[in-house]
Amino acid sequence: MESELLNLLVDTKKQLEHLRILGVEGIRPIAAASPAIETQQSAAPASLLFGDIAPAAPKLQPSAETFELIHAELGHCIRCPLHQQRTHVVHTEGNRKARLMFVGEAPGADEDAQARPFVGRAGQLLTKIIEAIGLKREEVLIGNVNRCRPPGNRAPTTEEASICKPFLLREIAVVQPEVIVVLGNTAMKNLLDTREGITKLRGRFQDYQGIKVMPTFHPAYLLRDPSKKRETWEDLKKVRDYLDSTTKS
Ligand code: URA
Repeated sequence: MESELLNLLVDTKKQLEHLRILGVEGIRPIAAASPAIETQQSAAPASLLFGDIAPAAPKLQPSAETFELIHAELGHCIRCPLHQQRTHVVHTEGNRKARLMFVGEAPGADEDAQARPFVGRAGQLLTKIIEAIGLKREEVLIGNVNRCRPPGNRAPTTEEASICKPFLLREIAVVQPEVIVVLGNTAMKNLLDTREGITKLRGRFQDYQGIKVMPTFHPAYLLRDPSKKRETWEDLKKVRDYLDSTTKS
């Protein structure tokens, strides 16, 4: 046994000498010398193993508020500069149990005069769009991100939108519609807090706290460019099909 060990040592020494002549400068134990797989795995934080699954989006909490309470709190609003030239604050109107809501940018001249959203030419086209998917205007909810008419119908600034939007979000929490159709670039950006443009997102369901949001063109834009009605119709058919698919029979 002793002589076997001695022979082994002599052989090992010879092999090491041979390796030294070949240029090998050192040998590490196997466990330490081949940690490649382990190193690769431990390089990534454990939280990223198996890919990155996005956290579940928060769901909109049900609200026991009423529109009357929200509108009373809004009062004769002077929270942003848009109050200076408005005639009326234009509140969300329609069915407070609606499955479908439409959200625009801000009132125009007709809306400002009548204190009702979407009653001008763009509003008349919106009514036709609603009817085209088999609903009546009274069955849906219609509102705007901003409730006061911007001078010269300019787009509300991001700051003006962020001051007014919480009231809309409170109404959405009260009604909990299944789908919100957001009309046009400004309304979409302000509602969804996105930098993407309407051309990219239209026709593709987005999410607002568990509610499906369908961006599509603003009816005022369709009045200027009727060729875009085709795409809008495609977007609205998706909304109709989704609502049909969730109807309890
Ligand atoms: N355009 C909007 O965005 N909202 C209205 O209420 C009317 C026109």
